[in-house]
Formats: sequence, C-alpha cells, structure tokens
Amino acid sequence: MKIVYHPRYTEVYSADPAAKPGRLEAILKEIEGSYDFLESEPAEEEDIRRVHTPSHIEAIKRNSHLYEIALLAGGGAIKAAETAFAGEPSFALIRPPGHHASPGHSWGFCYFNNIAVALTKLKSKGLIEKAFILDFDLHFGDGTSNIFAGSKIKYFQPKAETREGFISEIREKLEEEKGYEIFAVSAGFDRHIEDWGGQLTTDDYRTIGELVKEAAERNCEGKRFAVLEGGYNHSVLGRNVRAFLEGFA
Ligand SMILES: [Zn+2]
Repeated sequence: MKIVYHPRYTEVYSADPAAKPGRLEAILKEIEGSYDFLESEPAEEEDIRRVHTPSHIEAIKRNSHLYEIALLAGGGAIKAAETAFAGEPSFALIRPPGHHASPGHSWGFCYFNNIAVALTKLKSKGLIEKAFILDFDLHFGDGTSNIFAGSKIKYFQPKAETREGFISEIREKLEEEKGYEIFAVSAGFDRHIEDWGGQLTTDDYRTIGELVKEAAERNCEGKRFAVLEGGYNHSVLGRNVRAFLEGFA
C-alpha cells in the first residue's frame, strides 16, 4: 500500500472548505509512519486535455497558484493509478478534489477531475478499457458521471439513505459487477456521522475499503486505487481515512 502525496497540497490555494489550513495535516498525523509515501509530480497539460476543454483549462490557469496545485493533484491521481496498475494498491492524498469537475466546467471546490485524468491516462497508454469507479462521498460526482457517460468506465454511487442500506448497496453492486481491469474509488469522508452527512461510522469506511479490495481481487488481481474527495471535520477526518486504508490495504 502506497500513499501518493506532495507537501504543496497543504498550501491554501482558495477560500473553500477543501483548501482549509490543517485539513491534510489532520490526515497525515494519523497515517504517517504506517505506509510508504511516493511524491506526486504535476500532470502534463496533455493529461488534463484528455478530460477537459481548452476553455476550462484556460479559466483555471488564470489563477496560477490554483493551477499549479490542481496539476499536482491530477498528477498525484495518475501516480496512484499507475502504482495500482503495477500491482501495488495506493491512495492519493491530494487536493483540490475532483469529482464535480466536468469537461467544460467545475464547481463544489473541484477544478480538474483527478480520477478521470488518472483513468484516461491508463486508457491512453492502452493499459485498460474497463474500469469501475465507486464514489462514497456525500455528494454525487456529477463531473465524473458526465465524463464517463456511455463509456466502459462505470461510475457508481449508492443512493440509500440509511447507513446499513448504503453499505449493502455497495456490497451487492460489487458482487454483481464482473470483468473490470481496475477499481478506482472517489473517497470522500463528508458522509461521516460527525461530518456534513451525519450517516456513516468510522468502521463503515473500513468495511467499504474491504469490499473494494475483495472485488478487485476477484476481477483483476487486486488492482485498486483511491483518491481523496471531500471530508471537512478535521477532528475525525484522519481517523476515517485510516479506517478506510486498513480495509483497503
Ligand atoms: Zn462531498
């Protein structure tokens, strides 16, 4: 299990809750020393262009600080995907998040769609055709869903409103799905009982991690990676990431 990270992710590139000071530090404090870290490199503009329109890229570029950190987040997701494809599960501890970034626009603290940038990179290298994305963030990843609509890369987010229902929906879906070459997770922790969603427990994240791991082992020799999306209560975020990684690793 590798953690893909870069110290520049702690920089405050905007005034939104995903960019708040102390957010990534809260996660680092819980997981440092438990896993090996790899350092992110910025994505190439070509990697971003596979997913986003030139006008969207130009719009983000107008804020050069934001653009630099957003490229580094996309590059972190690429490194996590490539590490996973090579046989080592990985987690991209990155920000800004990405699942609300569509080809030509973005909102909800997102700028470039990191998970889409990573999967389209693997696809462009001829490594994968079919991938499964589980998104367990509180919010629907409209960007990811738009980008992959009608393609062999499947986007799935459970709709159940109870925690038991949410977990069993994931379990059932992962059991019925077959033939994927990699599993990717949009790991947002804002659904936690002490975060905005007020739904899942810390142990639930461990269970979700295990379910994805088992599905990846059944489908594709365990190839799997996750990228950080939401999660805003710094006092529980680190513990939740840690629990997820314990199940996922
Ligand atoms: Zn969210």
